Amino acid sequence: MNFGSDNIAGASEPIIAALAAAAREGAEGTYGSDRWTTDAVGQLRDVFETDLDVLLVPTGTAANALSLASVTPPWGGIFCHAAAHVIDEEAGAPEFFTGGAKLVGIAGRAGKLEPGGLRETLTRFPRGLPRQVQGSALSLSQATECGTAYSPSEIGALTELARGAGLAVHMDGARFANALVGLGCSAAETTWKAGIDVLSFGATKNGALACEAVIFFDRNHARYAEIQRKRSGHTLSKGRLLGAQLAAYLQDGHWLDLARSANELAERLARGLGDLPGFHLPFPRQANEVFAIMTRSVAQALHDAGAHFYEWDASSLGPGEIGPDQLLARLVCSYATTAAEVERFLAETRRVARAVASSPQ
Ligand SMILES: *Cc1c(COP(=O)(O)O)cnc(C)c1O
Repeated sequence: MNFGSDNIAGASEPIIAALAAAAREGAEGTYGSDRWTTDAVGQLRDVFETDLDVLLVPTGTAANALSLASVTPPWGGIFCHAAAHVIDEEAGAPEFFTGGAKLVGIAGRAGKLEPGGLRETLTRFPRGLPRQVQGSALSLSQATECGTAYSPSEIGALTELARGAGLAVHMDGARFANALVGLGCSAAETTWKAGIDVLSFGATKNGALACEAVIFFDRNHARYAEIQRKRSGHTLSKGRLLGAQLAAYLQDGHWLDLARSANELAERLARGLGDLPGFHLPFPRQANEVFAIMTRSVAQALHDAGAHFYEWDASSLGPGEIGPDQLLARLVCSYATTAAEVERFLAETRRVARAVASSPQ
């Protein structure tokens, strides 16, 4: 019953098989000129229904930092949600790769930026004021840090504002597949057609071992990215290590099947928890993560029963939404999570909730 994150899982069988097969092959192109990488890039062009430039890297932090560095000068400002991975969880990698750009966090309900919040921030950072960083990029997480997903029209409203202010738009898609399956729209509709310029396309959390793609829809931004990748030590000489993973990930919609399974189990989890007295789900379940407010004593009893999940930062909640004896729990389903695990956890939760309710305070 481990719902700690989706990267607790290993890798899917087709990806392991592809890695092993590629490793056994003989002489092949180096530094990303191998046939697996070429295959993966071709598949990405099909998936996104457009021409694009791609760089493969082994971590999501590298993908985000490279993406942002390709659209932001050292004196630039990057606007993102106040709880975004890029601002909170990457040890300053975007600042490091850009040579000193400033990340500006903006509050927003359920992990999402709203046009009003972005507009307000843009007026605080007018272009041309020499005492401030110059707004250069907007970064959106898809899915968000609260497990929600921006619809194409929500993205469009934000990118239109960004474009008007001269910003490029980046999408942190560490959980892009889960968001896409949740939305039920095409990959193109939620990215370049809605105004996204650069995408960190995640595969690691959804069944690869270590592979993410930086996708440039606006090829002008890709000009120096390959040099940046090498300079930062993220260019693998045996590029097949990344290419083989991504080619297998995309083959025959494997990535969507993996995400669908994770999302379906998250939905089962959300329904089960939502039906229980004493539980409150503050955000809609739109990808493979479920957030639940529960009492600390219930959470402790669940941990004692062998369940694993994390307490999450409650700052995305409204005032008074969480009591002093409560916590916000994040439960993540991966492609490898089973229905049996979910059912066992729900049975355990029902048992614990009954026991806590009937025990004297
Ligand atoms: C996991 C994650 C990343 C990538 O993290 P790495 O650990 O560097 O691979 C990026 N953004 C979000 C929103 C994530 O959840």
